[in-house]
Amino acid sequence: MTADAAPAPRHVDLHAHSTASDGTATPTGAVEAAHRAGVVALALTDHDTLAGVAEAQTAADRLGLRLVPGVELSVHQEGVEVHLLGLHIRDVAGLQGELEAIRYQRRVRAIAMVERLAAAGAPIAFEAVLAASGGGAIGRPHVARALVAAGHVKDQREAFDRYLAFGRPGYVEKARLEIADGIAMIHRAGGLAVIAHPGAEGRRERIEPLVPLGLDGLEVRHPSHTAEDVKRLDALARHFGLIVSGGSDWHGAMQGPRVLGAMRVPETWLEAQDARLAARAA
Ligand code: MN
Ligand code: MN
Ligand code: MN
Repeated sequence: MTADAAPAPRHVDLHAHSTASDGTATPTGAVEAAHRAGVVALALTDHDTLAGVAEAQTAADRLGLRLVPGVELSVHQEGVEVHLLGLHIRDVAGLQGELEAIRYQRRVRAIAMVERLAAAGAPIAFEAVLAASGGGAIGRPHVARALVAAGHVKDQREAFDRYLAFGRPGYVEKARLEIADGIAMIHRAGGLAVIAHPGAEGRRERIEPLVPLGLDGLEVRHPSHTAEDVKRLDALARHFGLIVSGGSDWHGAMQGPRVLGAMRVPETWLEAQDARLAARAA
């Protein structure tokens, strides 16, 4: 290598799940997989929980990899569910406390669904729903699995069609987290609010109203994005002065193309995120 040769580009992966939500690898396993994949930083972004962050941090310290404490929140924008990444969370315990309050509401909702199902002639045990959720955020798919296991329906599709869809006997409205509240929660915890995998929905008219709410960035590189999505999102981020992010949305084994590090996100994107945080603190 000559003296003026450019250093090899370093890559990061800023979207991954562990057993703290619906991934198959433990937080330690996720960090080890990221290390093996050769990325220099990993964001752990479990669904609606930061329960895996402390363990992942320990593993990252051991391996000399940077851990970005994160979360992927399910929020609503004008009635449509949107995923919102909170990256660089500083007050992990504070945000986790707020999320636990929401999780408690989901538990109450699941119990109400179980009661309605019993009244509709399809009794299931709440414990079966809990077991199906694997300790993560409880939702209708877990109730559906319990209905299948109890033999009331043949598959999850039938569970939704007969019992769980809007207007069916087991349906209970979900307490919604509005996107403005999600952004505010992430900011209170010191993080950056980034729209996850906007895909084809990532159009100017949907992004523009979020800018005055304090939206920080867009996930530009994601396995679900087409080349056209990447181009449009990159231009939108530039136009609105938002940071860009990217990651594999890794869930562990058997997730096909979602391989850690596969999005080849340059470390410079992470540096730009650090700069936005520093500018906010100043
Ligand atoms: Mn997931
Ligand atoms: Mn998502
Ligand atoms: Mn995800």
